[in-house]
Parts: sequence; C-alpha cells; structure tokens
Amino acid sequence: MLHDHDFATAAVHAGERRPGPDGSVVFPIYQGTVFSSVDGERYDEIQYHRLNSTPSQLYLHDKLAELEGGQAAIATSSGMTAVTTALLSVMRAGDHLIAGDVLYGGTAGFLDHFAERLGWSYTLVDPTRPDTWEAARTASTRAFLVESITNPLVRVGKLADVADFAAEHGLVSIIDNTFASPVNFQPLATGFDLSVHSATKYLGGHSDLVAGCVIGGDELISGVRGTLNYFGGCLDPHAGFLLARGLKTLAVRVRAQNENAMALARFFESHPEVAEVHYPGLPSHPDHTEAAALMTGFGGMLSLRPAGGVDAARRFVSSVSLPYSAPSLGGVETLITRPAVTSHASLPPEQREAIGVTDDLVRISCGIESSDDLLADVKQALEVT
Ligand SMILES: *Cc1c(COP(=O)(O)O)cnc(C)c1O
Repeated sequence: MLHDHDFATAAVHAGERRPGPDGSVVFPIYQGTVFSSVDGERYDEIQYHRLNSTPSQLYLHDKLAELEGGQAAIATSSGMTAVTTALLSVMRAGDHLIAGDVLYGGTAGFLDHFAERLGWSYTLVDPTRPDTWEAARTASTRAFLVESITNPLVRVGKLADVADFAAEHGLVSIIDNTFASPVNFQPLATGFDLSVHSATKYLGGHSDLVAGCVIGGDELISGVRGTLNYFGGCLDPHAGFLLARGLKTLAVRVRAQNENAMALARFFESHPEVAEVHYPGLPSHPDHTEAAALMTGFGGMLSLRPAGGVDAARRFVSSVSLPYSAPSLGGVETLITRPAVTSHASLPPEQREAIGVTDDLVRISCGIESSDDLLADVKQALEVT
C-alpha cells in the first residue's frame, strides 16, 4: 500500500499523477472516446474508451490497484459487471465453481440463470465451515467465490482458510469485498487472487454513481480486461471521475461509518425493545473472533429484529427521521430497509426465513452523521414501537 503510508494517506495519494496533465492537482475527465494512435500499436493498446485504455481510466486503475495492494485493477460499469466479468474470465465450459451460500442477490441470480447455459456447474458451501468444503470440490473445480461480509446477517466466513484452500487445490479465489471495503479488509494480503467491488457502495460513497472494479495480479486482471473489452462493460468517464473523487475520502468516511455502526449495535444490544442485533463488532456475533483477526474495522452495516415482531419493525423503519428508507448501502447518508421487502423480496418466504431474512429483520447502512444524532433518532423510534 503506497509504500509505507497509512491507508488514509494512500486513499488521497495512490495512483495520483504528480503533476497531473497541465499541472492539474485533480486528474481531469477526458470525455473523449479516442486518442491519436501511433503506427504499430497493438489493438488493445489503442487508446479507446471501450478498450479501457484512456488516460483517465489508467489513472483510476492505478489508484484502485494500490488501495488493495494489487498489481493491477480494472474499473467496470457496475458491481455486477465486475462479478460477472471476473467469473467469465476465469471459468470455462465444463468448469465447476464453489461459492458461498449467502451471495448478493444479483450474483446468486446470475449463477441461477446463466451457469447452466455457460456450461458451468456450482456448489454452494457455508464459508464459516471449512470442514464442509472438500466434499464440494470436484476434479473440474476452477474457482471459489465468497463475500467478505454477507448481507444482511453480516456473517464473516473463514476467509483466510478460503484463500488457503483455493491455493492448495489450484483454484482461483475470488472475493466480493464490497461490504468490508479496503479500509477494513485487504483480501489480496490475505491470499485472495481477485477482489471485486460494487464501487456504487463504499468506494464511490455518495450514492451518486454506479461502478465496479476488479483488483488482482497482472495476469488475472489482463484476462478480466480482455473479457471486459469484448462484453463492453467499461465505466463511463464521468462516473470514473466521481469514483476517483470518492476514493480520496474513503478512509475517513468508512472509519466514521464503522464507529456509527458500532455505537448503534451496542445501543440496540442493550435495549429491551430489540430482540436480536447482528454486527460482527459485537462479541456476541458468531463470527466476531474471525472478523477481529482479519479486519481492522467491522464495517458500516448492521441488522436487528425489534422485539415486537414485524409490526414493530415497520413502525421502527417509518419512525426514524434521519435515515432514508431505501435499499443499497455505503453512502454518507444512513439508509434503513427491511430486506424481506427489498433486497430479498424475490425469494419465496420459506427460503427467506431459512437464511434468517425474517419479515421483522431491519438492516441499517450507517452514514457519516454524528453518532449522537443517530442514537437519539433510533431511540425515539424504538419508543414508538
Ligand atoms: C450492490 C452489490 C453488488 C452489485 O453492484 P451494482 O453496482 O449494483 O451492480 C454486488 N455485490 C455486493 C456485495 C453488493 O452489495
């Protein structure tokens, strides 16, 4: 990470051109799609936006790579583009994938709808139980996909074991690090081969852009870039500019979000109107030990079940005044939602219950407001329930 600097310093300075074009301190948006070429250039060296090779893109890639200690990175048009392109670049027809059993809805849906037609098979495993993984492995297993913190019960698998298991068996380990963000967890240093993000969330951080990225070693990223160049999922220049801008404040934002989530989790845990709180920073969380060993912070996401059931959950969500009632996450404003009617609404009720997404579960994505204001707000809202 930017030589020996702290992450907060790296977030500001990683990948920056000093000086930038025409002496600029802020790297400009090159809105142009194409740049003058020189005779003899290889096709993928031509500076063309869809080939992910323009100056603004190369700058952003350097910045992203450095923030997670990767040799290379590529920005994509969305988090789903990052997930699907990473898989498409690694998996071949006939290959088998091992994946975590709680995946982002879009990722689970992609596997459900496309794995078979691409000739892939896959087996879902519990990332917190390494003893169950070997039974899932076949001679054609190519990759192991997990998420650093799952949604919405914020479980943290045995991530270092996933990376070790993959290395031992020659599998490509891929982690969706969206929920933890590079501030709290560094997947490549833990042994993962590829880290993917929905940059729409913490990396952008302001709920005003859709983007993704894949970070890793030169060879794998070159494969991802080659795949992306055919599928065409490049990140628009303006969104790329907003993402680079957001990255500079990543450390201060996520640290404030970690603090707010910890303060709310502690408050909920001690409140008689709350039956259950899920936050990996609480010693009561089943994965606290693992999270504390791997992560430098526990993230800005938590979930809870009010004691009064689904009606209390509805009243709670509608009685808070600061958080917006909305899905998505990672922005500077606090968001609150009931996953059963938003992110997990497409699942049949029995399946939702089976993975712990009960109708009374409330998920909070902490923003960077003052903890005191958030605490006062949730306190008055719980009194209404
Ligand atoms: C939001 C999200 C995605 C998808 O990202 P988009 O930018 O919406 O395409 C993937 N993984 C996780 C964990 C997410 O939260």
